[in-house]
Amino acid sequence: MAIKKVLRAPHPILRELCEPVTHWDSSLYRLIDDMTDTLYDASGAVGLAACQIGETARVLVLDISSKTTREDYKVLINPVIIEASRKKTMREGCLSFPDYLASIKRATKVTFSAYDRDQNEQIYTVQGLEAICIQHEIDHLDGILMIDRINSLKTDWIRRQARPGNGDDLQMTGNADTEAESIETVIPEIIES
Ligand code: ZN
Repeated sequence: MAIKKVLRAPHPILRELCEPVTHWDSSLYRLIDDMTDTLYDASGAVGLAACQIGETARVLVLDISSKTTREDYKVLINPVIIEASRKKTMREGCLSFPDYLASIKRATKVTFSAYDRDQNEQIYTVQGLEAICIQHEIDHLDGILMIDRINSLKTDWIRRQARPGNGDDLQMTGNADTEAESIETVIPEIIES
Protein backbone atom coordinates (compact mmCIF):
# COMPACT_ATOMS: atom_id res chain seq x y z
CA MET A 1 0.00 0.00 0.00
CA ALA A 2 1.22 3.44 -0.82
CA ILE A 3 0.17 7.02 -1.23
CA LYS A 4 0.59 7.85 -4.90
CA LYS A 5 1.15 11.13 -6.65
CA VAL A 6 -2.09 12.41 -8.20
CA LEU A 7 -1.62 13.31 -11.85
CA ARG A 8 -2.57 16.82 -12.84
CA ALA A 9 -4.03 18.10 -16.07
CA PRO A 10 -2.86 18.15 -18.81
CA HIS A 11 -1.21 14.78 -18.15
CA PRO A 12 -2.07 12.57 -21.17
CA ILE A 13 -3.13 9.55 -19.05
CA LEU A 14 -6.06 11.64 -17.81
CA ARG A 15 -7.35 11.66 -21.40
CA GLU A 16 -7.30 7.91 -21.92
CA LEU A 17 -10.37 5.68 -22.07
CA CYS A 18 -9.87 3.33 -19.13
CA GLU A 19 -10.20 -0.41 -19.65
CA PRO A 20 -12.78 -2.59 -17.87
CA VAL A 21 -11.38 -4.82 -15.14
CA THR A 22 -11.54 -8.50 -16.12
CA HIS A 23 -9.37 -10.16 -13.47
CA TRP A 24 -9.69 -9.83 -9.73
CA ASP A 25 -6.08 -10.48 -8.88
CA SER A 26 -3.29 -9.18 -6.67
CA SER A 27 -2.53 -6.27 -8.99
CA LEU A 28 -6.16 -5.10 -8.72
CA TYR A 29 -6.11 -5.36 -4.93
CA ARG A 30 -2.85 -3.42 -4.80
CA LEU A 31 -4.34 -0.73 -7.02
CA ILE A 32 -7.44 -0.48 -4.79
CA ASP A 33 -5.25 -0.24 -1.68
CA ASP A 34 -3.05 2.46 -3.23
CA MET A 35 -6.09 4.43 -4.37
CA THR A 36 -7.63 4.18 -0.90
CA ASP A 37 -4.44 5.40 0.78
CA THR A 38 -4.16 8.24 -1.72
CA LEU A 39 -7.82 9.25 -1.28
CA TYR A 40 -7.57 9.41 2.51
CA ASP A 41 -4.28 11.31 2.32
CA ALA A 42 -5.74 14.09 0.13
CA SER A 43 -7.33 16.88 2.13
CA GLY A 44 -11.03 17.20 1.44
CA ALA A 45 -11.04 14.52 -1.24
CA VAL A 46 -14.20 12.44 -1.65
CA GLY A 47 -13.34 10.35 -4.69
CA LEU A 48 -10.49 9.14 -6.85
CA ALA A 49 -10.24 7.39 -10.22
CA ALA A 50 -7.46 4.91 -11.04
CA CYS A 51 -6.22 6.98 -13.97
CA GLN A 52 -5.45 9.81 -11.55
CA ILE A 53 -2.66 7.68 -10.15
CA GLY A 54 -1.62 6.50 -13.60
CA GLU A 55 -3.57 3.22 -14.01
CA THR A 56 -6.07 3.10 -16.85
CA ALA A 57 -8.48 0.64 -15.23
CA ARG A 58 -12.16 1.30 -14.54
CA VAL A 59 -11.76 1.50 -10.78
CA LEU A 60 -12.99 4.22 -8.40
CA VAL A 61 -12.86 4.77 -4.68
CA LEU A 62 -15.35 7.10 -3.02
CA ASP A 63 -16.05 8.32 0.47
CA ILE A 64 -18.19 11.37 1.04
CA SER A 65 -18.31 10.83 4.80
CA SER A 66 -15.95 11.72 7.55
CA LYS A 67 -12.62 10.07 7.03
CA THR A 68 -12.49 8.71 10.54
CA THR A 69 -15.60 6.56 10.28
CA ARG A 70 -15.26 5.67 6.60
CA GLU A 71 -18.94 4.82 6.62
CA ASP A 72 -19.52 5.75 2.99
CA TYR A 73 -16.34 4.15 1.66
CA LYS A 74 -16.97 2.39 -1.64
CA VAL A 75 -14.77 0.52 -4.10
CA LEU A 76 -16.48 0.68 -7.49
CA ILE A 77 -15.21 -1.46 -10.35
CA ASN A 78 -16.58 -1.13 -13.89
CA PRO A 79 -19.31 1.31 -12.76
CA VAL A 80 -22.21 2.03 -15.12
CA ILE A 81 -24.94 4.62 -14.61
CA ILE A 82 -28.36 3.07 -15.11
CA GLU A 83 -30.62 5.99 -14.35
CA ALA A 84 -30.11 9.70 -13.75
CA SER A 85 -32.45 12.40 -12.47
CA ARG A 86 -32.85 15.92 -13.79
CA LYS A 87 -29.77 18.07 -13.54
CA LYS A 88 -28.74 21.05 -11.51
CA THR A 89 -25.63 23.17 -11.74
CA MET A 90 -23.28 22.49 -8.85
CA ARG A 91 -19.78 23.62 -8.06
CA GLU A 92 -17.06 20.99 -7.81
CA GLY A 93 -13.32 20.57 -7.62
CA CYS A 94 -10.80 18.03 -8.85
CA LEU A 95 -7.46 16.82 -7.51
CA SER A 96 -6.16 16.99 -11.07
CA PHE A 97 -7.05 20.71 -11.24
CA PRO A 98 -6.06 21.80 -7.76
CA ASP A 99 -6.33 25.52 -8.51
CA TYR A 100 -9.84 25.59 -9.95
CA LEU A 101 -13.48 24.96 -9.24
CA ALA A 102 -16.05 24.40 -11.95
CA SER A 103 -19.79 24.94 -12.21
CA ILE A 104 -21.20 21.88 -13.93
CA LYS A 105 -24.68 20.54 -14.61
CA ARG A 106 -25.05 17.08 -13.13
CA ALA A 107 -27.91 14.79 -12.18
CA THR A 108 -28.73 15.17 -8.48
CA LYS A 109 -29.71 11.52 -8.10
CA VAL A 110 -28.27 8.51 -9.95
CA THR A 111 -28.66 4.76 -9.89
CA PHE A 112 -25.61 2.83 -10.98
CA SER A 113 -24.16 -0.66 -10.95
CA ALA A 114 -20.59 -1.58 -10.07
CA TYR A 115 -18.59 -4.58 -8.94
CA ASP A 116 -17.05 -4.54 -5.51
CA ARG A 117 -13.70 -5.81 -4.29
CA ASP A 118 -15.14 -9.31 -3.94
CA GLN A 119 -16.43 -9.29 -7.53
CA ASN A 120 -20.07 -8.98 -6.50
CA GLU A 121 -22.20 -6.72 -8.65
CA GLN A 122 -24.07 -4.14 -6.59
CA ILE A 123 -26.73 -1.58 -7.47
CA TYR A 124 -26.59 1.79 -5.71
CA THR A 125 -28.91 4.77 -5.69
CA VAL A 126 -27.23 7.92 -4.41
CA GLN A 127 -28.01 11.60 -4.35
CA GLY A 128 -26.49 14.96 -3.60
CA LEU A 129 -22.75 15.09 -3.23
CA GLU A 130 -22.33 11.36 -3.76
CA ALA A 131 -24.29 11.54 -7.03
CA ILE A 132 -22.12 14.42 -8.25
CA CYS A 133 -19.02 12.54 -7.20
CA ILE A 134 -19.85 9.32 -9.05
CA GLN A 135 -20.57 11.26 -12.26
CA HIS A 136 -17.30 13.20 -11.91
CA GLU A 137 -15.33 9.99 -11.34
CA ILE A 138 -16.96 8.03 -14.17
CA ASP A 139 -16.05 10.96 -16.42
CA HIS A 140 -12.41 10.35 -15.42
CA LEU A 141 -12.71 6.73 -16.58
CA ASP A 142 -13.82 8.05 -19.97
CA GLY A 143 -11.02 10.60 -20.22
CA ILE A 144 -13.43 13.49 -19.60
CA LEU A 145 -12.32 16.32 -17.32
CA MET A 146 -14.38 19.04 -15.66
CA ILE A 147 -13.15 21.64 -18.08
CA ASP A 148 -14.95 19.68 -20.83
CA ARG A 149 -18.26 19.97 -18.96
CA ILE A 150 -18.45 23.72 -18.46
CA ASN A 151 -20.37 26.05 -20.72
CA SER A 152 -18.15 29.06 -20.30
CA LEU A 153 -14.59 29.60 -19.13
CA LYS A 154 -15.61 33.07 -18.10
CA THR A 155 -18.44 32.16 -15.74
CA ASP A 156 -18.04 28.45 -14.92
CA TRP A 157 -14.29 28.07 -14.36
CA ILE A 158 -13.32 29.63 -11.09
CA ARG A 159 -9.85 30.08 -9.71
CA ARG A 160 -9.63 29.05 -6.08
CA GLN A 161 -8.85 31.90 -3.76
CA ALA A 162 -6.10 31.50 -1.25
CA ARG A 163 -7.26 31.61 2.31
CA PRO A 164 -4.76 33.80 4.15
CA GLY A 165 -2.48 31.76 6.31
CA ASN A 166 -4.18 28.51 5.50
CA GLY A 167 -2.71 27.25 2.32
CA ASP A 168 -4.54 27.05 -0.90
CA ASP A 169 -7.95 25.86 0.11
CA LEU A 170 -11.08 27.87 0.42
CA GLN A 171 -14.46 27.78 1.94
CA MET A 172 -17.18 27.47 -0.62
CA THR A 173 -19.89 26.68 1.85
CA GLY A 174 -19.61 29.93 3.67
CA ASN A 175 -18.78 28.06 6.85
CA ALA A 176 -15.27 28.84 7.97
CA ASP A 177 -15.22 25.78 10.21
CA THR A 178 -15.85 23.39 7.39
CA GLU A 179 -12.94 21.19 6.53
CA ALA A 180 -10.88 22.71 3.77
CA GLU A 181 -12.06 21.25 0.52
CA SER A 182 -9.16 20.70 -1.78
CA ILE A 183 -11.28 18.08 -3.33
CA GLU A 184 -12.20 15.73 -5.90
CA THR A 185 -15.71 16.90 -6.17
CA VAL A 186 -17.19 18.72 -3.30
CA ILE A 187 -19.38 21.48 -2.21
CA PRO A 188 -23.04 20.67 -2.19
CA GLU A 189 -23.76 24.21 -3.19
CA ILE A 190 -26.49 24.64 -5.72
CA ILE A 191 -25.85 27.80 -7.61
CA GLU A 192 -28.75 27.63 -9.98
CA SER A 193 -31.69 25.37 -10.75
ZN1 ZN B 1 -11.40 14.77 -10.71
